[in-house]
Amino acid sequence: MPASPRRRKPLSKTTAGDYSPQEAIITMADHGYRMTGPRRAIIASALQRERPFTAEQIVADAAGVAGESGRSTVYRTLEILASLGVLSRILDGSGRPVYVAGAPVHRHHLVCAGCGTAVPFNACPVADLADTLARENNFEVHGHLLEIFGTCGDCRGTAR
Ligand SMILES: [Zn+2]
Ligand SMILES: [Zn+2]
Repeated sequence: MPASPRRRKPLSKTTAGDYSPQEAIITMADHGYRMTGPRRAIIASALQRERPFTAEQIVADAAGVAGESGRSTVYRTLEILASLGVLSRILDGSGRPVYVAGAPVHRHHLVCAGCGTAVPFNACPVADLADTLARENNFEVHGHLLEIFGTCGDCRGTAR
């Protein structure tokens, strides 16, 4: 078969979310962000994770981001990726902010207290309530968070 150049995203098994590292790099560049070696390493480290992760985990793992300037680069880059929808920021079972790959759409998660797995779902049970509350209270809503905490089937199975 002729090797036709594919411009659509190649589905990579090593990518947990909706973006490959290459697409995330292009997305950042498209929005005017300078692409540096540390940023590439941060993107690669973040997007290979199937489970929610903290910024500190990326600080520990990503090559070339040592020291305080590396740490602030990690925090800043993760915030940019979240603002672009490459990552989304959620809360884990202890209320700690974590990132998870993917989420260009409004999305909530089931979060397992055992293994940290976050299962996304697109239905939003809060939107109507938020609209009603906003009307009744003359309140302008800027957004909401909703995570559902519990224990996944795998963790319940292996806990015995
Ligand atoms: Zn679990
Ligand atoms: Zn919602």
